Amino acid sequence: MKIYSNEENIKLISSMLSKGREPHSIAVCGEKGQGKKTLAKYIAATLLCQNDKNRPCGVCKSCRMLEHNAHPDFITAQANENGNYQVETIRSLVSDAVVKPNEGRFKVYLIPDLDRSLSTSVQVQNILLKLIEEPPAHCVIILTASSKQTFLKTIISRALCLAVQPCTDADSADFLRSLKKYTESDVRAAVACGHGNIGRCLDFLEGDVLPAAYKIAVGCTEAMLARDEYEILRSLFGADGKKAVFRQSLVFLSEIARDACAARLGIGSSFGCFPEGAAGLAGALDEEALRQLYELLCEYIGKTDSNCNLSLTMNSLSGEMCSVINRPA
Ligand SMILES: [Zn+2]
Repeated sequence: MKIYSNEENIKLISSMLSKGREPHSIAVCGEKGQGKKTLAKYIAATLLCQNDKNRPCGVCKSCRMLEHNAHPDFITAQANENGNYQVETIRSLVSDAVVKPNEGRFKVYLIPDLDRSLSTSVQVQNILLKLIEEPPAHCVIILTASSKQTFLKTIISRALCLAVQPCTDADSADFLRSLKKYTESDVRAAVACGHGNIGRCLDFLEGDVLPAAYKIAVGCTEAMLARDEYEILRSLFGADGKKAVFRQSLVFLSEIARDACAARLGIGSSFGCFPEGAAGLAGALDEEALRQLYELLCEYIGKTDSNCNLSLTMNSLSGEMCSVINRPA
């Protein structure tokens, strides 16, 4: 089984396992696309592997079953299409947890994306609490969420918390090349955009939102550098009424502004999705303008999340961007 980055997480789990002190509840945190479920599956493979050394070995019966998502002792709770869990699903998981494993020493339960389960997250955790407090020796529960804040204090205090470690750009490129379906220039663009997040790289290559949003962010940055007010507005309207595209373009723009700020202050050279643009802005605007630009973009991400009129929002953002880039130093 191949996993990118996460060396320290894996080392920790292996060492706990070799001392016979395997954790019974694990909370995995990390942003969308960073591989929380992949890490959870790798931990399950490590626990369930039938080999004594180099777990997961990738060749034993258990590893092969897990690879094909067919291991009877690795159970993933299914949410509905809105990301919410049915109370019944979690209750039956809790009653199943007392039943001995089919194959080996452990039974591993994965309950992913608790942060998506907005209306049921607390309820789910309350149902799980008793199991987490007094787990049967064979039971391991892995919960995932984008932020640690999603978890109840009572859960966090009993769980081993692991933050997913981002992979390097080289790892992302390596993974995308291994799929053997993208050109080298696609891989390079996706890696620049995904920046350590393989899920985001894949969205860039396969989805509709990211490529469109990226095009807007690049166009808008170039227009800011040219101080071309009409072109700023025209770039933003490239979202073509699609709120998700507009929002994502603001996320990209905020990253560019953040990188420019960091470069201006001399505290970072690791540029995100559009390094040339960030470097250009760092040279063209002073520190205060960059800070204002970043805050403005974050504020408009918030506005887009509330029920705004998209055209009006684009118009007012473009006006405010122009006054920031034209402010006297
Ligand atoms: Zn194995």
